[in-house]
Amino acid sequence: MIKVSSRLAAVQGSVTLAIDAKAKAMKAEGIDVIGFGAGEPDFNTPAHICQAAKDALDQGKTRYTPAAGEPALRKAICAKLLRENGLEYQPEQIVVSNGAKHSLFNAFQALLEPGDEVLVPGPYWVSYPELIRMAGGVPVIVMGEPENGFKASVKQLRAAITPRTRVVLLNSPNNPNGYVYTRQELEGIAGLLEEYDLACVSDEIYEYLVYEGASHVSIASISPETKERTIVINGMSKAYAMTGWRIGYTASPAHLAKAMTNFQSHSTSNANSIAQYAAIAALRGPDLELRGMVCEFARRRERICQLIDETPGLSCVRPQGAFYVMMNISSLFGSGIDSRVVDSSTSFTELLLEHAKVAVVPGAGFGADAFVRLSYAVSMETIEEGFRRIRAFVEALT
Ligand code: PMP
Ligand code: GLU
Repeated sequence: MIKVSSRLAAVQGSVTLAIDAKAKAMKAEGIDVIGFGAGEPDFNTPAHICQAAKDALDQGKTRYTPAAGEPALRKAICAKLLRENGLEYQPEQIVVSNGAKHSLFNAFQALLEPGDEVLVPGPYWVSYPELIRMAGGVPVIVMGEPENGFKASVKQLRAAITPRTRVVLLNSPNNPNGYVYTRQELEGIAGLLEEYDLACVSDEIYEYLVYEGASHVSIASISPETKERTIVINGMSKAYAMTGWRIGYTASPAHLAKAMTNFQSHSTSNANSIAQYAAIAALRGPDLELRGMVCEFARRRERICQLIDETPGLSCVRPQGAFYVMMNISSLFGSGIDSRVVDSSTSFTELLLEHAKVAVVPGAGFGADAFVRLSYAVSMETIEEGFRRIRAFVEALT
C-alpha cells in the first residue's frame, strides 16, 4: 500500500463536518434523525444574492479572477469594514478565499515558523489546532473559566506566553461557547499584543449574530497599532446563509496580504467567480433577511436554553452570540443504557444518536469533554422534537 505522508497522516478529520455528514446520510436513508450538529443556517440564501449569481452566469463571468479576488468584491469588502467595523482598508489588503476556513489556513501559513506557538482560547472550534499544526505551529490551549462564560482572560493569556509565542487567536462571537468579548476586554488583549510583540488572528465570522445587547467589536479597531498586528477573518457563510458558496476573506497589513495572495495563487487560485459576484450582492444589498435571521436565532436561543435548564441533569451557560450552546452533561457520567456507560462526551453522543436519533457534537472535539455542542440554527419544531427525545433519553439512563 502506498504510504500517506507523515504530514497528512497526522491530521484528524473535522468532527463537526463528520457528524453533519452522518446525520445527513441517516436522513437520506429515511431515518428520522434530528440534527443539532453542524453550524449551518437553515435559511436559504436570500433571493437577491442568488439572482446576482444567475446574472453573473448570464453575463459570462465564468473566467479566472485575480487570485486575491474580483476588484469589485474587494472594494465592497473595504466598504463593509469601514461601515460596520470602523476599519479603513485598501483593496490590496483584502484576500478573498474559499471560505473563512481557507482564509484561516492562509493566515497561519503566512505567520508561523516551525515551532511557533499560537494561544488558542478554549474550548475552541475544532479546526483551529489542526490549521495551526498544518502550518508547523503549536497550538497552546488557554481554557476559559465557566464563571467568565468560558472567555480566556488577559491574565490567563499572559500566563501562557513563552518566548515562542507568536500569535493570539481570537474568535468572538465564539464557536462553541457563544461568548462575545467587550471592547474593554479587547483593549486588554491589544495591550498584550503590544507588550509581547504578538500578531492576532481575529475570526469574526459570527459578527452579526449577537443577542441581548451584546455587540461585536473588531480588535483591529482598538488602535492603529493593533490593526497593524491583526489579520481579520470573515466570510459570507453565517451572515448570509451561504455555507455552500465558499467565500471568506482576510483583511490585513498589505505585506501579509501579498504573501497570502502569492501562496493562494499557487494552491487554489481565485475563489469561484460566480460566488464572488453573489458575495458583492450580499455585501451591498439590503440586510432585511439578515436581521430576520438574527431575530429568529434569538428566539431559538431563548427556547433551547430554557429546555436545557428544564431537563434534569443538563445545564448550560447562556450564549451571547453565534448559534451554538454547550450543554453540560457531566452529571450524567456513570449512568448508562443497555449495559453501556455514559463516561464521556463521545459515548453520550453515540448513545444519543443510536437510541434517540438525535445528532449533537461531542465536546471532546472542542477540548471540553464535559459538554456536547448543539447548534440552534435549526427550526423551532426541530428544537422541540429534539428535546422531547433528549429528555426521554436522559430519563431512560440508569
Ligand atoms: N470560523 C468559525 C469559528 C466557524 O465556526 C466556521 C464554520 N465553518 C468557520 C470559521 C469557517 O466558515 P466557512 O469556511 O464556511 O467560511
Ligand atoms: N463551523 C461549523 C461548525 O462548527 C461548520 C462545520 C465546520 O466547518 O466545522 O459546525
